[in-house]
Amino acid sequence: MLGKVLAGLFVLVALSGCINPFELVTPEPAGDVNCALECCDNYVGFIDKACDSGGNCVFGKCSEPTVPPPKPPAFKLPDLNENWECLFVFDPEDEELFEKLEYKVDLACEKAIIIQESLGFPLKPHYTISFESDPRFIAWYSGNGNMTFTRQGIAAPGLQYTIVHEMVHSALEEVPLPIWFEEGLAEHMSDVAFNRDTSLVRDVEGIENLEPFFVDDVIENNINYRYVNFVVKNFVETYGQDALKESLGLMYQAQERGSVLMKNRVLIESMQKATGDKSLTLERLVYPKRFE
Ligand SMILES: [Zn+2]
Repeated sequence: MLGKVLAGLFVLVALSGCINPFELVTPEPAGDVNCALECCDNYVGFIDKACDSGGNCVFGKCSEPTVPPPKPPAFKLPDLNENWECLFVFDPEDEELFEKLEYKVDLACEKAIIIQESLGFPLKPHYTISFESDPRFIAWYSGNGNMTFTRQGIAAPGLQYTIVHEMVHSALEEVPLPIWFEEGLAEHMSDVAFNRDTSLVRDVEGIENLEPFFVDDVIENNINYRYVNFVVKNFVETYGQDALKESLGLMYQAQERGSVLMKNRVLIESMQKATGDKSLTLERLVYPKRFE
């Protein structure tokens, strides 16, 4: 017992010579600043010589002041009712190939107004078409108005749905969406445009194996496309097309270019804001049937 008391006393004596770690450290009164560097922070964070730029002092050097990223400009939707040609440009050598899909292109172009107005983002003024040989795909959009069709795909029935799907990608080019959601939206808009429903509502057991969609950027098979289509459709049926449009606008403003996990987070935040529903989570969005 005595030993403990003695040890306690020893500690008290030892501490009395140190700075009490809980005492507020007050700055010295301003006087001559003895700082030969660009800026000086003392070890408790008291600034001896501040950075005029508004940046932070890092090892005696002023960092660049942090500027919030500029807000992207709002889009003014071009009026597609007037003077808008759904122009598809192609290499004259490909004329024979283009002729095979021209009728489908016209069918898709008739849906341009509904695509643009539903999403709130403009379509490209024209599309440049090229052809490739690839038995795995029908078509894809590679950005900047460039659309590729495969020789195997140009005869596919329902090619107009695919063209609308790719046009949706073109409208959403500036919106950093998680790919799974963008694919679902492109499918959904194709359904809306042609007044059909290809979404597949699967039971909870059936969708367990789609869990990788939370993190994977790649969607490969038809069932997955249908499922993400169902997710988007379910959102629109629950909250309305305007809530979707507003969410897209918020995603565009946020410009989250990080991983799909970061994009998922911003997607949910945008949807919560647009719908006013704070209970909306990623799991509720992707697996609504679990919450019925
Ligand atoms: Zn796609």
